[in-house]
Amino acid sequence: MRLAAAVIVPARSIIAGDLGPNSFVTTMPRIFAVVNQKGGVGKTTTAVNLAAFLALEGERVLLADIDAQANATSGLGIAPVERSPGSWDLLVETRPLADCIRATSVPGLDIVPATIDLAGAEIEMAARPGRELALRHALREAEGRYDTVLIDSPPSLGLLTLNALAASGEVILPVQTEFYALEGLSRLLQTIQLVQRGMNPSLKVGLVLLTLYDSRTRLAQQVAAEVRAYFGDVVSATTVPRSVRLSEAPGHGVPVALYDRTSPGARAYSEIAREIHRYGNTRTG
Ligand code: ATP
Ligand code: MG
Repeated sequence: MRLAAAVIVPARSIIAGDLGPNSFVTTMPRIFAVVNQKGGVGKTTTAVNLAAFLALEGERVLLADIDAQANATSGLGIAPVERSPGSWDLLVETRPLADCIRATSVPGLDIVPATIDLAGAEIEMAARPGRELALRHALREAEGRYDTVLIDSPPSLGLLTLNALAASGEVILPVQTEFYALEGLSRLLQTIQLVQRGMNPSLKVGLVLLTLYDSRTRLAQQVAAEVRAYFGDVVSATTVPRSVRLSEAPGHGVPVALYDRTSPGARAYSEIAREIHRYGNTRTG
């Protein structure tokens, strides 16, 4: 269960902030890629609920669903219907961002929905030069319109995830506190490092979240301790507990903020969003 040799130096916590002397004011949104090639670790739950709570804090938030499973899309009550505008159009057809956006039931939260045809996007984009940068280019149009963009990515390290990493300032890495949680993590960190060396030198691992956390089990505590020892202060102090309300909310087409705001899962994501929001308000570049 040990992580392989360190392959990356994690950024300092986005919560602590890291403002250098050369900071400058920017109107570009903060862009976060929610990434882990392991399936079912809470990427979509994290992306949807952080997006919703950030919007409820008053931010203008865009959630980009680039996973063909379209769980973030359906979880926000939007049917992932083929041929309706969404991330396929944005990435494959290079349509303007404004054409690919839908409002959600959360005030201040828009989504670029995923549609079923996104399943073919990696093949359709494969031969195109600059294929890893399609999302980055598309999100230039978010400047001045959104404060924060969150990208929900698929459980793979394919072209769509590379697009998410190339487009983002920071990675949010959900880690499930289970036995196999750390397996494959060094591969992900190597991929992040490759992106840092090439397409996106300013990419940072901004936040590691311990998800599906059950504090009663010794295993969860062990995994949490190991993740904290490895990543240091990029690991959020707030863990996301296993909370049935978080898994029920998507079935109602709403984030947990609109489903049961007092549930433990809602309180955790609300707290994490507040930390990110506070940091965002002091960030200058
Ligand atoms: P995939 O890799 O398939 O995209 P994912 O990493 O996006 O998966 P989610 O879809 O967010 O993971 O979560 C997987 C399942 O676990 C879902 O059914 C979700 O509702 C549930 N789940 C996620 N986080 C929690 C939690 N903290 N408490 C209870 N259920 C959760
Ligand atoms: Mg998902």
